[in-house]
Amino acid sequence: MDKVWIKKSLIGMGAMRLASRFAGDGVAIIMYHSVMKDPTAEQTTLGGIIHSSEVFRAQMEVIVRHFHVVHLDDVVLFLNGKKTLPPRAVVVTFDDGYADNYQVANDILSPLGIPAVFYVTVDCIDKQHLPWPSLLRYAFLTSKQKCWTEGDGQVWPFASTEDRIRAFDRASEHCSRLAGIPQDQFVRSLTEQLGAEPPRLLRRPMMTWDEVRGLARNGHTVGSHTMTHPNMAHVNENDARAELAESKCRIEKELGTSVVHFSYPCPALQPHWISRTVSASREIGYQTAVTTNGGMVRRRDNPLSLRRIRPTKTVDGLRWNLECAFLGRTV
Ligand SMILES: [Zn+2]
Repeated sequence: MDKVWIKKSLIGMGAMRLASRFAGDGVAIIMYHSVMKDPTAEQTTLGGIIHSSEVFRAQMEVIVRHFHVVHLDDVVLFLNGKKTLPPRAVVVTFDDGYADNYQVANDILSPLGIPAVFYVTVDCIDKQHLPWPSLLRYAFLTSKQKCWTEGDGQVWPFASTEDRIRAFDRASEHCSRLAGIPQDQFVRSLTEQLGAEPPRLLRRPMMTWDEVRGLARNGHTVGSHTMTHPNMAHVNENDARAELAESKCRIEKELGTSVVHFSYPCPALQPHWISRTVSASREIGYQTAVTTNGGMVRRRDNPLSLRRIRPTKTVDGLRWNLECAFLGRTV
């Protein structure tokens, strides 16, 4: 039997919804990045992290109809044993801080009464440039050269798009270990080596601080996604602490409110968080940190390493992933 048909039937019968009520309490934190009218427009920079505004709107309508949206602050109380969440509780989150978060997603979320969480990358907002994975992706996909020669002499040919993506993945492994100025220098010198132009964007890439403040005014939560988007488990301890502390301080200064929620960037390498970063985030004053590990958040989980759910690019796909998560299946 057709898999899609089986999924649709199970969802349609309400069987999974009923079963999820007996699977114990918890919350599903959904992870988005970018929402655009035309997701193909920025393929060379953002790749697969864009949702079409049409699909995103339909996914949010499903969430309002079949789930209960809660605030991240309620999740903190739930994890501390001080609050019970409604059944089928969901939190909607966004990573990186793209301009469309305010210009597109906010316009869809607000009329539906959905409060979301926006984790912003401070340096990208300050300097209005895309996070480094997008800058490198663009350089590798648009380079006119025939190959890239890595520092150790290994040659990565550019015969096909797949070749270019493989080389980009390799370069990302190097870059994800760097933060701040060394990361910036790595991106610049690699872009030069590849003879690539800066990305030709159709619009301003990141939110302005005014827009971030606008989200907060609309009842959304703003959290940190570091200063420069490194892999926190692979940078040295000083850099990791600086990324946690400086971004918190900077966003608090811009918003005039305290910032207690953090999202781990997950470029290239695994793991993207470790016990050292969990301790540092606690000491620095964060109450929660979300990861890209898949699954539900349950009552006994550590608030500083929370799992999230990938929304997929279809309405039924999101519904299926959520129903599976509430039944205790990792997605
Ligand atoms: Zn990110």
